[in-house]
Amino acid sequence: MFETYTETLEDLKSHSHLRALKDYGDKDEKYIYFKGQKLLNLSSNNYLGLADNRAVTKEFLESAGADYSFGSASARLLTGSLPVYKELENLITDLYKSGGTLLFNSGYHANVGINSTLAGKGDVIFSDKLNHASIIDGMRLSEGKFFRYPHNDMGALEKLLVRERNNFNNAIIVSESVFSMDGDIADIRRLVELKNKYNCILVLDEAHAFGVFGETGLGVTETLGLTGDVDLIVGTFGKAIGSMGAFATGRKVLIDYLINKARSFIFSTALPPVTIAFSKWIIENKLPETFERRQKMLELGKKLGSDSHIIPVIIGENDRTVEVCDILFKDGYFTLPIRPPTVPAGTSRIRLSLTTEIQEKDLEKLCSVIGSINKTIKI
Ligand code: PMP
Repeated sequence: MFETYTETLEDLKSHSHLRALKDYGDKDEKYIYFKGQKLLNLSSNNYLGLADNRAVTKEFLESAGADYSFGSASARLLTGSLPVYKELENLITDLYKSGGTLLFNSGYHANVGINSTLAGKGDVIFSDKLNHASIIDGMRLSEGKFFRYPHNDMGALEKLLVRERNNFNNAIIVSESVFSMDGDIADIRRLVELKNKYNCILVLDEAHAFGVFGETGLGVTETLGLTGDVDLIVGTFGKAIGSMGAFATGRKVLIDYLINKARSFIFSTALPPVTIAFSKWIIENKLPETFERRQKMLELGKKLGSDSHIIPVIIGENDRTVEVCDILFKDGYFTLPIRPPTVPAGTSRIRLSLTTEIQEKDLEKLCSVIGSINKTIKI
């Protein structure tokens, strides 16, 4: 019986697809320690250097004391809803000036819950082809139908809407704002126009933009002045905020519906109160002072050819991508090969993610290494 599993694993290995956990020594806000080496961490979502940051952790614990426990022991709808959860939800609602907010245990829970729930029988979802796995899994669980449009292709989306919209009751358009593996940005203005023209609900996942883009860090919609035009915005606390969890904020009716119907919310123990308190503390005390450092990081991203702080270096073949990571390792850089199924076949890549801790001079050697390996690889 176990042979099929072994065969699959061997097949993955022979195609350089096998995933395995690594034994890291330690991490801080800038470096990761692995195989006895100190490496510049270019593979984290720790965009503001707030995770793995001992000074920040110490400051929070000193201010919080023993007020918040490490286990909620219950789902929110049972006995797991202490005041701190509502306080964080109210804070997000105030920041976005939205109708309401619901916390989820992770971005994965949020996207699975939202996409499986908002599209019921007779409904439809239109989803960008490069949307995150959690959005895809949510759509697969939905009783509605879904269509995936070519990445960022607004013309193709409109064609689909013309052809399909009237065959369904409710229609949802879902997109990331900053795309996690490509670092490019959705045409949010056009998405808003299309959702209005074709009477759809627009859901925008700002996982990689919350805490990074916008004057107060609310995301790309804040940069564009479109925060109020999106029906539901998803943000995560596990990336720039350095904590864990996620939120959906937007129209009150959608929030109330999710509380009643989203199974990933209803049937899971709430995050520890201490984690919720930490997210709230970071947003109130640390995020407001990051504007200049965030701008500098985004400028460096632009210099390296990206629209954001995420820079894809597309190499193509799996083996070659792993080789390049090994070369960079020897030069003190920690990068990870990103391979299918995370990205489409033939587009294996190194995903460089900048943080506010990383300076331009830290990357000089990396640029010359990548440039000399292959002149066609541009960063
Ligand atoms: N959305 C996007 C776009 C993501 O990239 C990720 C995680 N990489 C998630 C959602 C899931 O968030 P979390 O890690 O909090 O589950």
